[in-house]
Amino acid sequence: MFLVRVQVGEQAPISSVDRAIGFYPTGQEFESLIGDVEITLKEKIIALRQQGKTYNEIKKELNCSKGTISYHLGEGQKEKAAVRSVNQREKAMLAFHEYKEEKGCFDCKGKFPHYILEFDHKPEFEKIAAVYNVMKTLGIPKAWEEVAKCDVVCANCHKARTYKRKPWGKNRYIIE
Ligand SMILES: [Zn+2]
Repeated sequence: MFLVRVQVGEQAPISSVDRAIGFYPTGQEFESLIGDVEITLKEKIIALRQQGKTYNEIKKELNCSKGTISYHLGEGQKEKAAVRSVNQREKAMLAFHEYKEEKGCFDCKGKFPHYILEFDHKPEFEKIAAVYNVMKTLGIPKAWEEVAKCDVVCANCHKARTYKRKPWGKNRYIIE
């Protein structure tokens, strides 16, 4: 992120970053930026593009290279894609919550809010990772595949399962 600060009666400063990306404020811009203005080149490029300007028109207006324009517009698209994927993950999270609450605890048959219920991998299946981690790394469909390998259990029953699975836990459980 870089800023272009222009004040009336002052020379517009050109930082090394500005130079590196080929941005040189022109007299025209200097006129158009009245007062103490902070605006990023990226914001300007996105705004002009939204107005339907071509790359050449933006290049002329902002005195920057086409590479700079496509870099910033591409970055905007990446951000939008990231926002989309976060939204999709949030929706998937809600679906997991609903799924858990519908099932309730497999062991004690209790009905609990989603944050009390956990996915417990059944031993006969190969666990890739925790459902939420699978979602983040491999995507939502893979996460549902992971859900299918699990029982939904409440936190208490999950603790008990984990304890009994340990060799010493199993023996101790029998003695008790
Ligand atoms: Zn339970």
